[in-house]
Amino acid sequence: MNAELLQRAAELDAADPLAAYLNEFVPIDEPGFVAYLDGNSLGRPTKRAAADLQALVAGAWGTSLIRSWTDGDDPWMQWPERVGDEIATACLGAASGQTVVADSTTVLLYKLARAALTARPGRDEIVLDTDNFPTDRYVLEGIASECGMSLRWIDTDPREGVHAEQVAEAAGERTALVVLSHVAYRSGWVADLPAIAAISHQAGALLLADLCHSVGALPVQLDAWGVDLAVGCTYKFLGGGPGAPAFGYVRRDLQDHVRQPIQGWMGRADPFTMGPGYQPAAGIRALVSGTPPIVGMVPVRAGVDLIARAGIDAIRSKSTGLTSLAIDVVDSWPDSLGVQVNSPRDATRRGGHVTISRGDFRQVNASLWERGVIPDFRAPDGIRLGLAPLCTSYTDVVRALEVARTVMTRGAEAP
Ligand SMILES: *Cc1c(COP(=O)(O)O)cnc(C)c1O
Repeated sequence: MNAELLQRAAELDAADPLAAYLNEFVPIDEPGFVAYLDGNSLGRPTKRAAADLQALVAGAWGTSLIRSWTDGDDPWMQWPERVGDEIATACLGAASGQTVVADSTTVLLYKLARAALTARPGRDEIVLDTDNFPTDRYVLEGIASECGMSLRWIDTDPREGVHAEQVAEAAGERTALVVLSHVAYRSGWVADLPAIAAISHQAGALLLADLCHSVGALPVQLDAWGVDLAVGCTYKFLGGGPGAPAFGYVRRDLQDHVRQPIQGWMGRADPFTMGPGYQPAAGIRALVSGTPPIVGMVPVRAGVDLIARAGIDAIRSKSTGLTSLAIDVVDSWPDSLGVQVNSPRDATRRGGHVTISRGDFRQVNASLWERGVIPDFRAPDGIRLGLAPLCTSYTDVVRALEVARTVMTRGAEAP
């Protein structure tokens, strides 16, 4: 064990203003457990989520039943906008009335991309990048064939991500929409959204940003940056739980100019008149299609409340400290281990996770899981260290990477 790095981690933990937040999470009580390093893929549950879910079953659902949709001061019917605004305030730098919770990220991405195209008639191109998350690429491929659009691909270096200059080269008078991730799911590269929004607008196009890997990990300023539409998931850094619903954002002055394609009764003006014909509800509500996923929103609210209390700037500061320490530990390993850092070394361009690579990391990752260290593997050869700031200590990082070094030194198959 590298005593010097362990000592430094202990000092960082002792001075960590967010250290006490670990107590807000359901403890991991498993023999041999060392560290959870996948908070960017499935965030850990809060104790409040557990309590609030139980209270929902007994109270609002179990006792008040159907009345909970409409009665009281927090009727379920309003949760899409309410929880959307809670996320917007704590994490998105977005004024109220522009964010709703609904569907999955995949479905909302489809709805938002299709909606954006209705505001740019006559343009027939969507700009995207080769290393965007698979679902984003597949959805846009589907939309292109459905709507007769062509896709203009930016070829991305998977160790980095989309540069503003690449968008400037790709976007032009045929471009209706630019779609990219704020934080790249593999490298953790932070795209320069304000610059890319300006470039997109200069070309007359709209920008749709996928915030799955940035929301809850670093400050986002959707309103100030001029982002037109955004989507993100709530089960990563927001701790909403497996399959928790996504959020979608449409800039206020665009809301009357876009039409999303899944015209359901819950996004209609006056849904309970059950009248003929679809008329979109006013404002952001029109993005909703079907019955709001109330059970799924309960842990989201608990997670977002935790982020609001800790503050996104303090979270970003610790996040940068954790990823910098992880890179320092990997840099302290001998070159003979052959491990590469595939994330930006510039902390301002790096999100909340670090990817390291080596040819045998699929097996190494499996060995780590057996030894109580839980990162994830991303093909072809990357291990992603997702360091959720509210429940990961600096000591966790050093200990977990020490297990990784031991596994690699002995060979992945050795006991
Ligand atoms: C995790 C993630 C998704 C997930 O989409 P789902 O519909 O929730 O499966 C989408 N896009 C990005 C960039 C992601 O990181």
